[in-house]
Amino acid sequence: MPKFDGYKCCICGELQDDIWGHNPEPVKTEGRCCSYCNIEVVLLARLEMLSRMANNTKECSNDDCDTVVDNKEDDICTDCYMKEIDKEIYKYN
Ligand SMILES: [Zn+2]
Ligand SMILES: [Zn+2]
Repeated sequence: MPKFDGYKCCICGELQDDIWGHNPEPVKTEGRCCSYCNIEVVLLARLEMLSRMANNTKECSNDDCDTVVDNKEDDICTDCYMKEIDKEIYKYN
């Protein structure tokens, strides 16, 4: 039986004759993938994941403020929220 030092790409299933391969995350959690799949599949998936993460953050709805709101349930950032509360308190005094 011939000695085989390579690996089987976990994405396209092709046998590869280099030793290292590439980390296939987030497409697969195990195994290694070939250079082709690394670029065509894995890197694209990572970019997509990053842009999805970027879209998940939003800016404070206060026009004068561009702080990113961590909690997606909130429309305004903590600073503006505190200012709003201050204003409310001021109104009733
Ligand atoms: Zn492959
Ligand atoms: Zn704000």
